[in-house]
Amino acid sequence: MAGHKYDEMGLLVVQENYCCEHFEPDDGALVPMRECWCCKWSNFRADSKGGTCDSYSVCNYVGNAKEAVNR
Ligand code: SF4
Repeated sequence: MAGHKYDEMGLLVVQENYCCEHFEPDDGALVPMRECWCCKWSNFRADSKGGTCDSYSVCNYVGNAKEAVNR
């Protein structure tokens, strides 16, 4: 995972065209491609509803977080 960035919550920061082996298509994506943008674990569509529309989001998949959730 060298070079990956994480947000203040320890979630993996992803670009819309990134993809990983945990990809799962989001129900809201009409033509799901294997990209974070179409993945149910990303916040891209939730973020764009709030008005921010940059090409970065975070991955909510626990297995991609910086450290295992053990608190
Ligand atoms: S959003 Fe997360 S789980 Fe989905 S493809 Fe991107 S990195 Fe993988």
